[in-house]
Amino acid sequence: MGVGRVETGFDPDALKELIEGSGVRFRQLSISYVVDCPRCGKKDKLYFRKRDGQFICWVCAGDGFRGRPEYGLSEVLGVPVREIRAQLYGDKDVRATAFLDLKVRNWLSGDDEPDEDAFDLQEVQWPFDFYPIEHKFSRRGLAYLESRGIPLEVAKCYDLRYCPREQRVYFPIGSKGKLYGWQGRFVGQTEFRDEATGQTTRIPKVVTTKGIKKEQTLMFLDRLEGSDHAVLCEGPVDGLKVHGFGGNVVSMGKIVSKAQINLIRNSGVKRVYLALDPDAYSETMALTREFPDLEVYWVTPPKGYKDIGEMSISEVTELCGLAPRVNGSFVRGFINPESVPVNYRHG
Ligand SMILES: [Zn+2]
Repeated sequence: MGVGRVETGFDPDALKELIEGSGVRFRQLSISYVVDCPRCGKKDKLYFRKRDGQFICWVCAGDGFRGRPEYGLSEVLGVPVREIRAQLYGDKDVRATAFLDLKVRNWLSGDDEPDEDAFDLQEVQWPFDFYPIEHKFSRRGLAYLESRGIPLEVAKCYDLRYCPREQRVYFPIGSKGKLYGWQGRFVGQTEFRDEATGQTTRIPKVVTTKGIKKEQTLMFLDRLEGSDHAVLCEGPVDGLKVHGFGGNVVSMGKIVSKAQINLIRNSGVKRVYLALDPDAYSETMALTREFPDLEVYWVTPPKGYKDIGEMSISEVTELCGLAPRVNGSFVRGFINPESVPVNYRHG
């Protein structure tokens, strides 16, 4: 179970030839080739699975160094990704059908199993009173979502929950049926003034499960599976607004980690849409240079909207479709937030 999808067009013999013919020192186990990791420099830590080529470094996995074979091989062999693709997949157009799998523990078995815990995301369970959003106890949570333009059908797709005790809607952080944590959004008033004492109490609007290393994953990660593009959003509501356009993933903050960047790069998407909030201008600028082998587009809400979370799902679908393409070296220095979107699409 787990990692069973096989890339269409992937040629296991080509992987064998690439590794055996490369001059790189390798070991061969029953289901994997093992090489030294070019990122961390650790010996025998990088595994390429023979069946589909998927790779993982058991030390750097937490930084996103895992996924499709061409990205790992490119670094091990020092050969451009496109050349490796040509060898691994022949002439076939590569679609992102074999996305990386977070169930790394299920990846290997028997003699291929490294004994250390490289990967820090631990599976958790929903508390019993975090009710599915369609549950009768979740009415208030659903009303909140609907007021923000998220209908029940969409909320159900993402397994959103509501906890009446906490008065919060919960957005799962997980992948492939595993739950690693959640973010909760308070649905009521977040500030109370006690008239007797004159004191104001504030309730935090957003909470995240304690202990989860959210920078090691992306919320709604499964939305990249089979998608040829990714839309990187800052918060869960923004992410849900991109449901119609697809490929929607959420960084859970303005700071996008190396691991999150690598999750997108290694997923096999061809285009990435940067849809962080407009006040994350410098972060977005920096990100345009992180995807040198992908087409990068910049999604900014029209004047009058604070962020895409304020727009409707269909408006956001249209906005993404019209997003201008940018290019790391090209954009630097002369796009400012006022002038975006301007169509810089070239070619
Ligand atoms: Zn490594």
